[in-house]
Amino acid sequence: MNVPAMRVADFDAAERARILAKVARFAPPPAELPDGRRDLIGLSRDELAAAMVAIGEAPFRAKQLWHWIYHQGVTDFARMPSIARPLQEKLAARFVVGRPATVVAQTSEDRTRKFLFRFRDGQEAETVYIPDRVEDRGAVCISSQVGCTLACRFCHTGTQPLARNLGAAEIVGQFMAARDAFGEWPSPRGEAPRLLSNIVLMGMGEPLYNFENVARAMTIAMDNEGIALSRRRITLSTSGVVPMMDRAGAELGVNLAVSLHAVTDALRDELVPLNRKYPLAELIAACRRYPGASNARRITFEYVMLKGVNDSVAEARALVRLIAGIPAKVNLIPFNPWPGSRFETSSPAAVARFAEVVNAAGFSAPVRAPRGRDILAACGQLRTASRRAHGEAA
Ligand code: SAH
Ligand code: SF4
Repeated sequence: MNVPAMRVADFDAAERARILAKVARFAPPPAELPDGRRDLIGLSRDELAAAMVAIGEAPFRAKQLWHWIYHQGVTDFARMPSIARPLQEKLAARFVVGRPATVVAQTSEDRTRKFLFRFRDGQEAETVYIPDRVEDRGAVCISSQVGCTLACRFCHTGTQPLARNLGAAEIVGQFMAARDAFGEWPSPRGEAPRLLSNIVLMGMGEPLYNFENVARAMTIAMDNEGIALSRRRITLSTSGVVPMMDRAGAELGVNLAVSLHAVTDALRDELVPLNRKYPLAELIAACRRYPGASNARRITFEYVMLKGVNDSVAEARALVRLIAGIPAKVNLIPFNPWPGSRFETSSPAAVARFAEVVNAAGFSAPVRAPRGRDILAACGQLRTASRRAHGEAA
């Protein structure tokens, strides 16, 4: 039976409404501090202008503040010389320019740097700086939630129930705090190289289950008069929240990465339980229609290599049939073990055989080198260690 297109669209709209309603139950804490001051981070440009008008100031002050906050990285109103002293004081009495607190900052032998940031209500999330192996640039891997509602079997974050969503300020704040740590302010103009050149939304949590906050944060990061990261330098990774993928493409236009990990519904149902709701056929269809995907901007399929589970040559062949025709690359990720995980990393030979099949079909299939092994790099491990140290259940 043919389902009319309208019905599919209605179904997606209802699903989106359901997902967005659930978000409200895990909302971040309000932007007000206990002393009544408000954090300016996370406000859109229009909201910042409205905040200025609300205290009797001209809206153009928002443009000045935006420059100091997001281009220069200044957090102290007294260090914003284009703003006169009395106004600096007035702003400081009412507002703050916040940052998460750094609980842990560890640098690996391979220069990977891992942060555990703490937010105002005591919740913690991980952020990782992953330097490029060759060039002087790198990606900041940002968390979107504290914990995750989806329990992918191989993922350590998946063992942590969702504590809450991160707010827009907390999401963009991770990048800003990492910039502080690397002394990388002011923001570069144009394509000038910087160490922290990219954002990947691949940390804790499912970004498409917290879309409004993620979208707000990325819109701030992409603003040309501030951090000014091009949408080509931002990659959002999803485990396959199909109804939100179209919105991510249409409203943000960032690069898409899809955590595939299996090529049959039977196996993917086990590894990525969300597959029971949005099976492979729907997921792949959403990838095929993802706006902006082209040979210049390919969709990344992430595939964690699990020994004896999903790493056979037959599965590699099935993979290339599944994604045939999609402008895509396949990122092969050696499984990063964590205490209590049930899986083993595929042997280098199995990974190489798998990559060969994918390559031969015309897809680039880089093998992600394990990074930061010496610093609890499996996502979610640092938070667990911190909770244990504080005597909380992990
Ligand atoms: N929730 C989103 C983004 C965060 S996870 C998603 O699932 O896509 C980022 C990537 O790391 C995903 O591809 C995820 O499957 C992978 N990953 C999670 N745990 C891993 C582990 N222990 N070893 C290797 N990759 C892992
Ligand atoms: Fe959540 Fe992604 Fe981990 Fe799955 S892989 S549990 S979606 S963070």
